[in-house]
Amino acid sequence: MSRFLPEAWMLPIVDDLNREFFTSGKLLLQQCVDCQTVQHPPEEVCHQCQGMEFVHVESAGRGAVYSFAVMHYPVHAELQSAVPYAVVLVQLDDHPSVRIVGNCLDVPPDEVEIDMPVQVTWETLADAETGEQLRMPQWQAIRR
Ligand SMILES: [Zn+2]
Repeated sequence: MSRFLPEAWMLPIVDDLNREFFTSGKLLLQQCVDCQTVQHPPEEVCHQCQGMEFVHVESAGRGAVYSFAVMHYPVHAELQSAVPYAVVLVQLDDHPSVRIVGNCLDVPPDEVEIDMPVQVTWETLADAETGEQLRMPQWQAIRR
């Protein structure tokens, strides 16, 4: 896919907690070994039981827009050509307790709606400092 984020846009700092999420190209979520709670974003401690041991579970990457905001004002000069754009909060179908933020790439911002079905898509970006390839989850509408 063509790049959605501006070329000079800052990328997340990848660490041991979030590396799988940002590099695997799979929508991997943390699941607590002790209580099975699935949570995102990745943290050191389980929000439910304070457990500290996790495995990854893969989401199918389908969900619905739980909330969204349309950005009209470029909060950074790099975003001048991108506005207006929609930032969506997606509730996953297979893990409804998890909501993931991203951009909605293929729907005009004024047509984004609550409960609109969406599917994850991946934007690959190279970290300029480390050369590491990051796979950023973004969202596109599921056409019916
Ligand atoms: Zn737990």
